[in-house]
Amino acid sequence: MSNCLVWFHNDLRLFDNPALSLASKSDKKVIPVFIWSPGEANDWHLGGAAKWWLNYSLEALSLDLRKIGSELIIKKGETENVISELVEKYEITEIFMNRRFEPKIVERDNKIIKNINVEVTVSNGNLLFNPEDIKTGQGKNYTVFTPFWKNCKLQKEPRTPLKKPTKLNTPESWPMSLPIKDLNLLPKIKWDSNIKRTWKPGEKSAKKTLKKFLVNNGSNYGKNRNIPGIKGTSRLSPHLRFGEISPHLIWHESKKYHNKGVEHFVREVGWREFSYHLLNNFPFLTNKPLRPEFENFPWSPNKKYLESWKKGMTGYPIVDAGMRELWSTGWMHNRVRMIVASFLVKHLLLDWKEGADWFWDTLVDADLASNTSGWQWTAGCGADAAPYFRVFNPILQGKRFDSNGDYVRKWVPEISKLPNEKIHTPWEVSKDELHKYDVVLGKTYPGPIVDHVEARNIALEAFDKLMAEKRKVP
Ligand SMILES: Cc1cc2nc3c(=O)[nH]c(=O)nc-3n(C[C@H](O)[C@H](O)[C@H](O)COP(=O)(O)OP(=O)(O)OC[C@H]3O[C@@H](n4cnc5c(N)ncnc54)[C@H](O)[C@@H]3O)c2cc1C
Repeated sequence: MSNCLVWFHNDLRLFDNPALSLASKSDKKVIPVFIWSPGEANDWHLGGAAKWWLNYSLEALSLDLRKIGSELIIKKGETENVISELVEKYEITEIFMNRRFEPKIVERDNKIIKNINVEVTVSNGNLLFNPEDIKTGQGKNYTVFTPFWKNCKLQKEPRTPLKKPTKLNTPESWPMSLPIKDLNLLPKIKWDSNIKRTWKPGEKSAKKTLKKFLVNNGSNYGKNRNIPGIKGTSRLSPHLRFGEISPHLIWHESKKYHNKGVEHFVREVGWREFSYHLLNNFPFLTNKPLRPEFENFPWSPNKKYLESWKKGMTGYPIVDAGMRELWSTGWMHNRVRMIVASFLVKHLLLDWKEGADWFWDTLVDADLASNTSGWQWTAGCGADAAPYFRVFNPILQGKRFDSNGDYVRKWVPEISKLPNEKIHTPWEVSKDELHKYDVVLGKTYPGPIVDHVEARNIALEAFDKLMAEKRKVP
């Protein structure tokens, strides 16, 4: 009996894992391997929060593999060298892997597959549909979500989830494996205590999270998904990001609940598919806008604004609450992601890539496809984008989606005593009254770093100019 490799990457689960399932059904002895090679993703090597997640996700996978009599072999180094060495030393005759979509990783994987002298079986483990299979009637790629998703739903239904292998054939001898801690994924300075309290990485926790969401919150998803002060969404994003759960399981489990809320939830999973469709078909998107005219936009170099935004000290309570939730937990509610992103781009006129970089470093669910498309959508330079003249009003957004101020009170405690009707606009409250609520603007909490109306007008003028120049180009 010969040996095979199961090459794990962002598919850190046993259940419904096509690569692992095929390997377990082959007549080969299985060596599961994870290779840490951060430099190979170019600018997009994992950020701090995602590395934190990866550490614990690998620990969980390693334990789960042990339970079925196997081992997770951890390696570090240049991927091509590590794979070649394993193939040579352990007489590997086949490699099983699930397909990935990050442009630099795709390039690397393709090179390895071409150069290595063994069969490589690539499966689609992490997407419901192959991004290149979904085309418009004219054979083009989609750049608008609604028709994209309509088309997806006309495709053959995504496969039913594959069973988890109960046993794997083990090799005569195991390759040497590094301890996970040697990958140095955890921070040296302790900034992760609240992240640790908030999340439990791993497949078991992912499945539990899905179940709990579908039972308790699924039917109200449509109503609650926009309210950041309550747990109205699934919080499955980091689990999906690391492949601890497959979208196929989500799809088929959701089907058991016949209600509009869960249907809406599955449609949001469709946005994830759409983001991958875009990244796969327009791989330049991570660094360049889909709409080329935006390349010439005169973004502001104001580093002070950027720092205030990162720290949650802009003086706009809903923006600050979001940025602090991000820093503290490694996650931010989707509605608030849109508000803070719009604020960075349209109120502060800072380059969307600065925002995408910060999210990349601080999100536990940092995902190249969804982060890129989320930022380009908000900036108005991407697919199906919010039109450039749509400037989210952080005051109205706060009043509408956090009307009782719960979210702001949680994350911006220094203004928590303000009454509901004033919590989103502390600068409109007189000095004396603020004093009653223990707030001194500019001291205990900042005044607004820009004036909303003024900033909006400047942004609209700049974007109008850009559009006028675009119209001039023959
Ligand atoms: C500027 C910006 C940056 C973003 N960066 C990321 C990112 O790095 N990683 C990430 O996973 N999502 C990102 N999103 C999308 C979205 O905010 C998160 O997926 C969502 O908030 C995760 O919470 P949840 O799991 O409770 O979502 P739910 O509402 O429960 O949705 C279920 C799943 O659907 C997917 N999903 C939902 N909304 C979107 C969306 N708009 N785009 C793509 N997929 C979606 C996610 O996988 C999510 O877990 C970003 C959005 C914006 C506006």
